[in-house]
Amino acid sequence: MAKYTESKCRLCRREGAKLFLKGDRCYKSTCPFERRPVAPGVHANMRKKVSEYGLQLREKQKVKRIYGVLEGQFRMYYEKADRMKGITGENMLVLLERRLDNVVYRMGFAASRAQARQLVTHSHFTVNGKKVNIASYQVNLGDVVAVNETRKENAYFTALKQLEKNAAMPKWVEFDPETLTGKVVALPTREDIDAQITEQMIVELYSK
Ligand code: SF4
Repeated sequence: MAKYTESKCRLCRREGAKLFLKGDRCYKSTCPFERRPVAPGVHANMRKKVSEYGLQLREKQKVKRIYGVLEGQFRMYYEKADRMKGITGENMLVLLERRLDNVVYRMGFAASRAQARQLVTHSHFTVNGKKVNIASYQVNLGDVVAVNETRKENAYFTALKQLEKNAAMPKWVEFDPETLTGKVVALPTREDIDAQITEQMIVELYSK
């Protein structure tokens, strides 16, 4: 997978929204977007009016960046969502939300999706007792996500055991710090996705 190596905070400024890409820092006053919420670049304030296409494109880029997926994979999510029953835009967000890296992040095992992805690809997790190291793996209702037995004594995970239950955790997942185990107790719905996203704009972009 190609890797974006420049500043993540620059992406928030580019998209004009907080994308919460850097874990705890995003909630502090040192968040660069809080201090300078303008697009990067010397001509940032001189940009012309954005076309409808431009707005749709930006919305797509924003969602890709939030979930950390590349164009080809993102398009795949759209096509799959389009074949499903229901509203395409909502289906697409739900498919993204069901990615294992996102679920690990939502359960509180990681402070950001990027960190969650790294933990998953380094084989730190099992799903229903089987090792899974694929970040895009789709979780299902009732799936149990747990820290791999061989990694439980790792200092990072032992520190997690001290965590209080996170009140901000979405209601579709549960997390037990004592056993370092999480469960998907419901499938996510559009209402569970808190980011400010206008998914219909992405559908319009891809339907052209
Ligand atoms: Fe975005 Fe987080 Fe950086 Fe703030 S700290 S600009 S929310 S990635």
